[in-house]
Amino acid sequence: MKLRVLGCSGGIGGSQSRTTSFLVDDDILVDCGTGVGDLPLEVLSRIDHVFLTHAHLDHIAALPLLIDSVGELRSKPLLVHATPETIRILHSHIFNWLVWPDFSAIPDQHQPFMRFQPMMVGEHVDLRGRRITALPARHTVPAVAFCLDSGSGQLVFSGDTAYCPELIDAINAQPQLRHLILETAFADEQHGLALASRHLCPSMSLTVLAELNVAPVVHISHLKPGGSSRIMEELRAGLPVLALRRLEQGDVLEF
Ligand SMILES: [Zn+2]
Ligand SMILES: [Zn+2]
Repeated sequence: MKLRVLGCSGGIGGSQSRTTSFLVDDDILVDCGTGVGDLPLEVLSRIDHVFLTHAHLDHIAALPLLIDSVGELRSKPLLVHATPETIRILHSHIFNWLVWPDFSAIPDQHQPFMRFQPMMVGEHVDLRGRRITALPARHTVPAVAFCLDSGSGQLVFSGDTAYCPELIDAINAQPQLRHLILETAFADEQHGLALASRHLCPSMSLTVLAELNVAPVVHISHLKPGGSSRIMEELRAGLPVLALRRLEQGDVLEF
């Protein structure tokens, strides 16, 4: 599998600060942040599946516009995989005919442009030999992490999460973990803000990494613009021996 980073920033501000979205091969999106808007229409129209970690705007911002743009170009519904709680939030607060039309009922409910597919933590979806599994996470709204398994290796994406022992257990259970994309949204001086918003700061991320008994390449994502160099310095100071890098927009990870 090939994962291309369309965006991994914790905020906006210029063409290198798109919010979270990854294009997997040419038919899957993991999260649907502002980076999706950089893809040409014909690439957008080939996307058949969107997996959402949670309903926060930086992870779903492009979904309403995506479905509006490609709906009539496609012969089958775009499938949006998310937990029942996330689906409920999107239905109630975005696709509610007030903020945006309900594209799961357009042009009609039997053959809609978009279909929601509920997915519980621990469940997986198999797509032509590729397996995507929802893993536990802890955030201010119901949220999951994802494991992407190509059959010969895995990649785990934390989504947005605080310290979550169940997620660490799930990461350690991967037999051939090649890549870990771990959010670290705030610097340590904003420890209180990280706790309140259920994100990680470097001291917490270092605890997570110290508890791993697998050895993936670690990619740090979701850094708040303006704080990114400090976050990376704090991480590198705490674990100088670990292969750790900042995830960059445009990166391609193969596994
Ligand atoms: Zn969030
Ligand atoms: Zn976020």
